[in-house]
Amino acid sequence: MVMQTAERLSRIPAYPFADLDRRVQRLRQAGIDVINLGIGDPDLPTPAPVVDRLSEAARRREFQQYPDYAGSLRFRSAVARYYARRYGVRLDPEREVLGLIGSKEGIAHLSWALAGPGDVVLVPDPGYPVYRTQALLAGAEPVSIPLRRERGFQPDFGAVSSEVARRATLLWLNYPHNPTGAVAGPCLFAEAVSFCRTYDVVLAHDLAYGEIGFDGYRAPSALAGRRSDDLRVEFFSLSKPYAMTGFRLAAAVGSADVLEALGTLKANTDSGPFGAVQEAGVRALEQDLDAMVEGAARVYRRRRDLVLDALRTAGLCAEPPRATFYLWVPLPDGVSDGAAVDRLVADAAVAVTPGTAYGAFGAGCIRVSLTAPDTRIEEACRRIATRVRF
Ligand SMILES: *Cc1c(COP(=O)(O)O)cnc(C)c1O
Repeated sequence: MVMQTAERLSRIPAYPFADLDRRVQRLRQAGIDVINLGIGDPDLPTPAPVVDRLSEAARRREFQQYPDYAGSLRFRSAVARYYARRYGVRLDPEREVLGLIGSKEGIAHLSWALAGPGDVVLVPDPGYPVYRTQALLAGAEPVSIPLRRERGFQPDFGAVSSEVARRATLLWLNYPHNPTGAVAGPCLFAEAVSFCRTYDVVLAHDLAYGEIGFDGYRAPSALAGRRSDDLRVEFFSLSKPYAMTGFRLAAAVGSADVLEALGTLKANTDSGPFGAVQEAGVRALEQDLDAMVEGAARVYRRRRDLVLDALRTAGLCAEPPRATFYLWVPLPDGVSDGAAVDRLVADAAVAVTPGTAYGAFGAGCIRVSLTAPDTRIEEACRRIATRVRF
């Protein structure tokens, strides 16, 4: 029999991290002790009080039935309280907070809710691949907004042609930024809001790394100072700050109109996150766990400096990021990102991701993730410093 796949599937590449995973698996099967600094997935344990709350809640009969589509009011209220405390942003938990099964789910579905054939979705390049691939699947046209080192990886809205801007329905931003580690400049969100108001574009900000900042850096929310008719939404995920990637829990917050469109799409697609997982999320967002999140940031900061030193010894010089657990490392002229990845795997058995996995403007860079245990990071540093020369 011949299986036919939908035409839309041919529009997108394989998920780059799934490829990387397979490559690491193959090497490990061949007996090579590969250190994976490719994927961004915290190695630190989920805080114990969060796990305790999950296991208590898992026994409750009410959570064994379908959860509310929009997330429980308890979880949504906890997100609203957290936003008020952490970002000074007031949210109505009933209309301005929507529970998600991880932010990747919500990010994917937002394109389906807002964009289709003839529409443009503006995506940062380099950037998280899901913005682009889901726009393609939804039949819309993703258009890159280049993020260049010389502009501090900030978008230049003046460079978007008015023809493209008029067709745009959705603009993605993500600060602190995966993969570059860049943080939002002081005028970035004001410029984005003004662009979006001019062209009636929904501003979607992916705040996956809001809590992972170093040396006192505190990331802002794109919702700060919003006006009642703004079409701004933000994706807040518990995955990275609370080391909860396996739980699949996040929220979309902001414009009630945008969340209603996303919620309608979702109610026809999935149900809310598992109720016990939402209870664990309520626990995570209580103020007493802030100190654990800050402790995790200190762990990443120490690793950041270790790896930067080792890379320097190998002839690669990168700026220390102020946020995220990624290093965005420029390569010497003439070395492609693919070749650099191959060399690190071959010479040091260290896996990293090629910059072009995040878009064409990622060429000439590699991304190194700091989410391996300290002992593995230290071993990777030894191998890089002693075996690799660029
Ligand atoms: C990790 C990541 C996500 C996905 O997070 P989940 O909530 O676990 O789905 C979204 N955006 C960016 C930029 C990320 O790095």
